[in-house]
Amino acid sequence: MKSKVPFLDLGRQYRGIRGELSKELRVLLNKGQFIGGPAVSNFEKSFSSFVGATHAVGVGNGTDALEIAIEALKLPKGSEILVPANSFISSAEAVTRTGHKVKFVDVDPSTYLIDFAKASQSVTPKTKAVITVHLYGNPVNAEKLSLFAKDYDLRVIEDCAQAHGAISGGQSVGSIGDIAAFSFYPGKNLGAYGDAGAVTTHSNELATTVRMIANHGRLEKYNHAFEGRNSRLDSLQAAVLSVKLKHIDSWTNTRITNAQIYMNQLREVGDLVLPVVEGTSRHVFHLFVVQTERRDELKEHLSRHGIETGIHYPLSLPQQPAYQKTIRHNTTPIADKLSSNILSLPVGEHLSPRQISYVIDSVKMFFKKAG
Ligand SMILES: *Cc1c(COP(=O)(O)O)cnc(C)c1O
Repeated sequence: MKSKVPFLDLGRQYRGIRGELSKELRVLLNKGQFIGGPAVSNFEKSFSSFVGATHAVGVGNGTDALEIAIEALKLPKGSEILVPANSFISSAEAVTRTGHKVKFVDVDPSTYLIDFAKASQSVTPKTKAVITVHLYGNPVNAEKLSLFAKDYDLRVIEDCAQAHGAISGGQSVGSIGDIAAFSFYPGKNLGAYGDAGAVTTHSNELATTVRMIANHGRLEKYNHAFEGRNSRLDSLQAAVLSVKLKHIDSWTNTRITNAQIYMNQLREVGDLVLPVVEGTSRHVFHLFVVQTERRDELKEHLSRHGIETGIHYPLSLPQQPAYQKTIRHNTTPIADKLSSNILSLPVGEHLSPRQISYVIDSVKMFFKKAG
């Protein structure tokens, strides 16, 4: 049975842009240029201007974008890199895979984002960088981030996988730190029809290094300055992304409207804790995450009413089996606790006002019945 309120509906989104897409893809398929070419360079140009960064370099996916961004910074091997404890595993994987050490930092209990006071306590002489994850679409405070990085002389890698178009204090995510990684995984706010990603930066030098790492250490066909790898953005995915980029602002505004309705209607309902958005921020609501002590019951109740929800994430990163050997002490109690209380309500642009009202009524019904 099709659920009444799906978490995601990419088929519906496709039907809205089918004409534009077919045109772009037909041109590309007839030309037969599937690697590089204008489809990729045009997307890179429009995406860098969307982000407000000087350069955007298309890569294979968001995880590669993080890895390549870190590698391009050429930090001393074995450097410590701060990573928030509440994120998708890529944020940490990229650190280990590039030969560095993950240092998990607990998150702020209301924004779910990296806690700079705790981050300060985690800095040692070996700490060289911080990965700031603009989690759920909520941008990390740009001013605090820049001050923190300056105070401790750290490079900043922004993980923007969930935050296309988010803004803090007038600065778009992806243009704040030294270098940034975006994912275009299909379910992200800007998603391709398969894996895809991009790195953005203001630095000419970093942009060139990223482009070379992602393409076998070369800029010309058979002239390899060093050993790189193959992580390019497919031309077909670039063409899809160029079409979708024209709609991202309208889609994001619908997400924000949906979120605002939730924020107004779900205030003081049961023990629900709603997302917190700073006054100068544009939160793009990749996810609308609430907290309740009765998360599992609420999830079950909504599911019985045909409403799909998610949990992002059921374990904090330090709680993941992958880190049990390396993390000895429980130093991220807030992220650990959050993982059992958080629930993501459907918030995408595919939802009608009626569906949003239905979710609100169903949530209210749960708390009323259970008293
Ligand atoms: C999705 C995601 C990634 C990874 O992107 P992929 O394109 O799936 O490799 C990295 N970080 C965060 C926070 C994500 O949500």
